[in-house]
Amino acid sequence: MRPLIAGNWKMNGLTEESAALARGIRHGLGDAAAEVLICPPATQIAAVAAILAGSGIAVGGQHCHTGKFGPHTGEISALMLRDVGATHVILGHSERRADQGESNALIACKVSSALEAGLVPIVCVGETAEERDLGQQQQVVAHQLEGSLPQDFVGVVAYEPVWAIGTGKVPTAADITAMHAFIRAELKRARPTAADARILYGGSMKPGNAAEILALPEVGGGLVGGASLVAEDFLAIIRAA
Ligand code: PEP
Repeated sequence: MRPLIAGNWKMNGLTEESAALARGIRHGLGDAAAEVLICPPATQIAAVAAILAGSGIAVGGQHCHTGKFGPHTGEISALMLRDVGATHVILGHSERRADQGESNALIACKVSSALEAGLVPIVCVGETAEERDLGQQQQVVAHQLEGSLPQDFVGVVAYEPVWAIGTGKVPTAADITAMHAFIRAELKRARPTAADARILYGGSMKPGNAAEILALPEVGGGLVGGASLVAEDFLAIIRAA
């Protein structure tokens, strides 16, 4: 399966800079071996999708509600994301688990609504520094997978150790390999519909470390935060894949 390189712009990007970044990525892409996805803030999805139309680069959302429509002020549904050109949605990102208190059960409902709307969910899991220090990383990730993935899950899983996000710290190759093998085994055991799902690595992926990480067994691509905001850096990661 082709690797997937997904850029998560988070809460960054006004109209002009988003358009310039999307154009820069489109024009620099060339013949990429990887599948490429950009997840801009919701306000920019339609504009970025228009800029990327016909390029092969997909566009996604960064979260969605569990429902389709209704009295949920400030929310956005999977159907609405789909309507403005998104094909994917990131769910269960650690920043939302922490900032919005999203539980595994809530994330599982969001994943189901994304699947129903025809979006590919990218479900994030990963341990905190404290949990790793206590040697609990596999237990934590197993619990997140069990709670966040509906029984009929199909989509993408992203392993994102919380302590590696935006910090410049990256797990060792051995630690990434061990966790990706563990996630693969858990999917095969408990979610057979997702036995072959891509498992992305996310957390301070940069041009300088991407090739090494992306070559590790069971690493099916990358979820990239900070480096996806600089066209040259994001393109270098895509080339590394
Ligand atoms: C992320 O937030 O998903 C992420 C991987 O961020 P960064 O690449 O900046 O660590």
